[in-house]
Amino acid sequence: MRPYLLASLLISVAAPSLSQQSTAIAPAPVRVDPMVTALRADALANDHYAWDITEGLTTEVGQRLAGTEAEARARDWAVAKLRALGFANVRVEPFDMATWTRGAENAEVLSPFPQRLVVAALGNSGSTPAEGITGEVVGFDTLADLEAAPDATVRGKIVFVSHAMPRTQDGSSYGYFGGPRRQGPSIASRKGAIAIVIRSIGTDYHRNPHTGTQTFANGVRPIPAGALPLPDAEQLQRILKRGKPVTMRLTLVSQTGQGQSANVIAEVPGRDRSQPPILVGGHLDSWDQGTGAIDDASGVAIATAAAKRIMDAGRPLRTIRIVWFGAEEPGLFGGVAYQKRHPEAHYALAESDFGAGRIWRVNSKLGKQREAEARALQAALAPLGIVPGSLDDADGSDIGPMLAAGAPGVGLSQDGTYYFDLHHTPDDTLDKVDPEALRQNVAAWTAMLAVLSGGIESGPKQPKRR
Ligand SMILES: [Zn+2]
Repeated sequence: MRPYLLASLLISVAAPSLSQQSTAIAPAPVRVDPMVTALRADALANDHYAWDITEGLTTEVGQRLAGTEAEARARDWAVAKLRALGFANVRVEPFDMATWTRGAENAEVLSPFPQRLVVAALGNSGSTPAEGITGEVVGFDTLADLEAAPDATVRGKIVFVSHAMPRTQDGSSYGYFGGPRRQGPSIASRKGAIAIVIRSIGTDYHRNPHTGTQTFANGVRPIPAGALPLPDAEQLQRILKRGKPVTMRLTLVSQTGQGQSANVIAEVPGRDRSQPPILVGGHLDSWDQGTGAIDDASGVAIATAAAKRIMDAGRPLRTIRIVWFGAEEPGLFGGVAYQKRHPEAHYALAESDFGAGRIWRVNSKLGKQREAEARALQAALAPLGIVPGSLDDADGSDIGPMLAAGAPGVGLSQDGTYYFDLHHTPDDTLDKVDPEALRQNVAAWTAMLAVLSGGIESGPKQPKRR
């Protein structure tokens, strides 16, 4: 039986007059602490911290590809900002990483209908020579079709994989339909292809290619790998359907090397330092095409603004630890480095990394013995239009490995209906962030921290100035 169903049955015993109207899915009413209500309302009406961070980081740093000097500048910016906001224990925890940087890019159909297409290299793409490579294009509707193809039909050719990624509110299509990007290049290389282009893992019909990482499987020779925007991918499909051999010249120049990234950490010290901290965060790095406003400046901004609002209200029982993870995009390097360095227990983990859309659902995985706390969290968020979700699920990219290892967590699900219109494109810029939706996010994160941090004690009153 679902726990909430049990709770509603118990309630109907206690309050028979109401039981007639109650439905099986209505959770037991939980009273929200007035301080939580006040903090939530204030954030919803007045928060400016999240906008200031999002606007500042995207304007003063701009794009910040992992492991590059741009990410290092973003780190300096983050340290200065977190200190200026008054957080304690602001520090940088560096780690080494392999880097990949983009160079010249061009795609051109040479025959039968000569024309240029828009293309962007995927992360870790192999490099073409400066003059590009030329080959015949062989097209597949799905990754499974590519996998099933005899090597002889692929060898020496440029593979093109199409697919159809639908819009979903919860972003669940990204996992499945991201396959051509994540596995396509390795499969194509194994079969002897000289390059691969895929239909972008995205949902918009602008001529913006969606980049994103892919990692060649062990022992697989890196080949040039790019993404075409949806209009260009469909154009190439139509050209292929004419049935004549299609020749393409593809230029995807890139460089690999060694670099350094780091996680930036700050804290709101709790009254009881023996208690495990609550970790909230997002990632500082971004792809190199837009300014990473929705991915993920707004994420670090939301988590940080909420922690700041708690700090302004007084001292929480538990420490709130803010982490701006480095190098998420190339493969969760920051999350893995943090996990290695911090084997200590965490009271809860939460990460904002799905844009800046309104939060519509709260999931949590706090464990059976903390169900009352999970219910209190649901009740605190409901006035923001946030529906109670699972009590046995939490998610996040950088925190994913720690969640998988059993750490408790909370997942505040943002509306992802339009997220994949912008994700990893040049269009990921500040103007796409809706300040009102951003405040709704901060209100939810503030309420979440107010519930989980174990009670906030107001600091000593400031003496009145005369
Ligand atoms: Zn992200």
